[in-house]
Amino acid sequence: MSLADRLKAQIAATGPLTIADYMTACLHDPQDGYYATRVVLGEDGDFITAPLVSQIFGELIGLWAVATWQAMGSPASFVFAEAGPGDGTLMADMLRAAWLEPAFLAAASLWLVEASPAFAAQQAQRLAQAPIIPYWTGTLSGLPEGPLILVSNELLDCLPPRQFVRTASGWAERRVGLGSDGQLAFGLAPAQAALPDAPEGSLYEDCAAQVGFANELAHRIVRHGGAALLIDYGRDEPGFGDTLQALSRHQMVDPLICPGEADITVHADFPAVLAAARAAGANAGLMTQGQLLLRLGLLERAEALAAATDEAGMAVIERQVERLAAPDQMGELFKAAWIYSEGIDPPLL
Ligand code: SAH
Repeated sequence: MSLADRLKAQIAATGPLTIADYMTACLHDPQDGYYATRVVLGEDGDFITAPLVSQIFGELIGLWAVATWQAMGSPASFVFAEAGPGDGTLMADMLRAAWLEPAFLAAASLWLVEASPAFAAQQAQRLAQAPIIPYWTGTLSGLPEGPLILVSNELLDCLPPRQFVRTASGWAERRVGLGSDGQLAFGLAPAQAALPDAPEGSLYEDCAAQVGFANELAHRIVRHGGAALLIDYGRDEPGFGDTLQALSRHQMVDPLICPGEADITVHADFPAVLAAARAAGANAGLMTQGQLLLRLGLLERAEALAAATDEAGMAVIERQVERLAAPDQMGELFKAAWIYSEGIDPPLL
């Protein structure tokens, strides 16, 4: 039975699903979930991410990790982690840059936080030649205790929200139920939600899973010292609006059609993520991806690479730099939240 048919049967038996439950089934159903069964990223897949645009992205973040470790006082052992590592490209590029500081690699235990066994297998392959042995866990709570440097790119957008709509009679929860034709359809269910008042028709996303992730991460960072960079597309001010979207072969598709067959995401709720990190006692802030990469030396690194190539190669590098940092491409929609424990001066940023 397809995931769509199983979800329809479940809804018929027990009622409409919250958006969070629907999205979780689409992404992580062990049999048919998107991340459980589709492990193709990049031009040949459904969407492309910054590490796949250019190796420079991961190299610069790797240099950030080394500088952060130094700013932490170069602890003799620490956890170097990536959450949601996809095909492992970002980690491979970070480790290559970190070769420049062998003491960093000697101190690091390498951890990948990955929910999908299929992706974990790809990461294992990609990191087979890595200078340190990687370990895997499905959740943050599986990381060992200790000083932590964690990076994630496009993970927050996979952490599902619940959605609420302001109706004439108060807030109602948006759910996935069955339409009169028996197909999956959005609907509203009464909700007891204590939400800020808003004009009728407003849609509010309650990103509890993103907040929970940021809060747990920040608590670890505060407990043992450390830092994190969470990069994603999303909003930088609290707001209303439906950001649920599904992508298949680089095209937007209806999120209710073919559950499990398209990547389904929401925008990162950065104001909520920063507030959660600060509530845990960490310092936190936000910048655009363009700002982050320029401060980490994007142009200098691109020039160095360009010097070692021909004219065609230079044009490719120039296009990659534009794609990563130009405001009308990934430079402004994508943002980086940084989270630091008290007493660490964020290096390079
Ligand atoms: N960071 C990579 C891949 C982004 S795709 C890149 O930039 O190319 C999202 C990744 O997060 C995938 O590896 C997916 O399996 C993983 N993921 C999704 N939800 C997760 C969760 N709840 N916990 C851990 N990993 C998750």
